[in-house]
Amino acid sequence: MEWFVEEHDGTAFMVRYDKKLYEGGKMQRIEIYSTSMGKMLVLDGKIQFTEADEFIYHEMLVHVPMLLHPNPRKVLIIGGGDGGGVREALKHSPDEITMVEIDRMVVEKCREYIGIDAGALDDDRVNVIYEDGMKFVEETEERYDVLIIDGTDPNMISQPLETARFFERCHEISDVFSSQTQSPFFQKDYFRAIVKNSSHISRKFYISYMPSYPSGMWSFMLSSRIGYEADIERRIEERGIKTRHYNASIHHASFALPEWMKEMLNEG
Ligand code: SAM
Repeated sequence: MEWFVEEHDGTAFMVRYDKKLYEGGKMQRIEIYSTSMGKMLVLDGKIQFTEADEFIYHEMLVHVPMLLHPNPRKVLIIGGGDGGGVREALKHSPDEITMVEIDRMVVEKCREYIGIDAGALDDDRVNVIYEDGMKFVEETEERYDVLIIDGTDPNMISQPLETARFFERCHEISDVFSSQTQSPFFQKDYFRAIVKNSSHISRKFYISYMPSYPSGMWSFMLSSRIGYEADIERRIEERGIKTRHYNASIHHASFALPEWMKEMLNEG
């Protein structure tokens, strides 16, 4: 057994692994391991998910916006090449999900070695487009009920997904959108940039426990044109949404932010 180490500013998260199942990639360095937390995807040296806890991240990223929307028929997912977001979004029985993923190899290797999409990527309501999400939202004339941004840790190709223009367009083409916004504790500069770049649109931030991400605490952003209140409990019942982490209490509680994070939101 060896250790996979992901470093962050003088700290590190380590996962024991017994085998590296794949290494390669053109656009990004793709590594897949068999670890003590199940199969694990690493892109450019950063853990994207492990089988052990990906459900926490994908449930929090997807069900918060999907349940805020009264009738999410048309869904757009930017990134999310592993298919975990599509799997969760399908639980709401939308008419269609478009997934815009820049790196075809991530989809192919996740299908081949891991399969957390659980067949969701083969569902005939799902359409996968291999393109830069920034280019797609800039050019599309479509509108979406819910848009979900499931990008990587900050790297060259995900950089456009953190810009003011990108958030402006996401707000224009959707009723509700969510985005993962990294660790507000270990990536303060990045988080401050997201706060600044999204300050011109209506949005709120929420947090979740996420074991395999730096500090075990992750942040998300929710932007809405239709308000932020809904009877989440009733909608979970009505839609028969089955989850392993997320529930209505966690939905509401996740918007309760610590003082140090609220200060970062008010710095702008
Ligand atoms: N759950 C992971 C996390 O939050 O750390 C990320 C999930 S998924 C692996 C992230 C995906 O975003 C990757 O497949 C990556 O190729 C894709 N991605 C990054 N930049 C993108 C862009 N500009 N347009 C579309 N997809 C992008």
